[in-house]
Amino acid sequence: MPQPDSQQTLEQQIIETIRQDGPLPLDRYMNLCLAHPEHGYYMSRDPFGRGGDFTTAPEISQMFGELIGIWCVSSWQTLQAPDPFHLVELGPGRGTLMADLLRAAKVMPGFHDSVRVHMVETSPVLRALQEKTLAATGLSTTWHHDISSLPQEPTIFIGNEFFDALPVQQIQKSEAGWHERVVGLGEDAKLQVGLASDRVPEAIVPDWARDGEAGDITEFSPARADYAMHLAKHVAECGGAMLLIDYGHTRPGTGDTLQAVSQHNPVDILHEPGECDLTAHVDFAALEACFKDAGLATYGPVTQSRFLAGMGIAERMEMLTKRGGARERMKIAEAARRLVAGTEMGHLFKVLIATHKDMPAPQPFAQMEKEAKR
Ligand code: SAH
Repeated sequence: MPQPDSQQTLEQQIIETIRQDGPLPLDRYMNLCLAHPEHGYYMSRDPFGRGGDFTTAPEISQMFGELIGIWCVSSWQTLQAPDPFHLVELGPGRGTLMADLLRAAKVMPGFHDSVRVHMVETSPVLRALQEKTLAATGLSTTWHHDISSLPQEPTIFIGNEFFDALPVQQIQKSEAGWHERVVGLGEDAKLQVGLASDRVPEAIVPDWARDGEAGDITEFSPARADYAMHLAKHVAECGGAMLLIDYGHTRPGTGDTLQAVSQHNPVDILHEPGECDLTAHVDFAALEACFKDAGLATYGPVTQSRFLAGMGIAERMEMLTKRGGARERMKIAEAARRLVAGTEMGHLFKVLIATHKDMPAPQPFAQMEKEAKR
């Protein structure tokens, strides 16, 4: 990238880069929009909630984090209650999920004494928010830029809407073959998505996409595969488990899922770079393959709806509603509906668990297996 002029917007800087170096592959564009040290979307703001651009499950209801807390407790027990063990959240947003999780997990004797909390976060603004949110837990917490600085001891990873923020590449089939989709400049000198003139090497085209027709778009993400591989290596070497929740598909397929959101509305991916959230569906089959290649056992993906039901959202809701008045009860029921209903987050969001191969099945899969045998 040319020497940045801090007076310039990110859009102007990207235009300048394209003028000098040529069009940008979509993953580089996405990375600049989200992670540019000064103008990147996550680097400079708190994007969550009603006043922000989008709302995530932990921000909808405390039940989400509490049920993940129960999952962490039960996984820790399945791992024979290692002391110490490391609980790592990837991309923790406001820190709400970790705070709810730790509060729920406190009921299990020994958990708080053994747990070492780690937050993997690249945004200084969100890290400051997380520090505030977690201050009340009384547990010492360490922040990391990536997972390479984690201790080599048993680790439980959790991540909600983490992978969807890592950049994707796209290729599109023409009559002549497959070309990478890139951000270049149109005749009006504005940003425009087009195809790179060179064809991509055959080896890049995923097997399942090869027979496609002209016009087909295929998405894949070396950045996600690389992250998944490092996570899997950590669990394989140190022991532990991971729970990943994201929106996405369970089977690879063609199509362009890259989308931009601003103030809860979809906008064009080229609209005000760095000012809008950019995400793409997570290819769970690709993640699962990375974990299996590293020798981990995998469970799911299942829908968020099925996972939360298995972890006892109905019982949790009942407990919470016992305490409050009619208005509070309606609020809790509505939040639960948003988390599990097929028309809301329940089906689009999926849960994938991967564990060290020697760990017995984690919840809710252990219970599901038992019921299936009956
Ligand atoms: N898990 C939170 C936030 C999801 S948004 C929730 O459910 O509310 C994505 C989060 O990932 C943000 O905190 C963002 O700053 C962080 N993030 C994005 N890319 C990252 C990366 N490469 N490494 C670590 N954190 C990242």
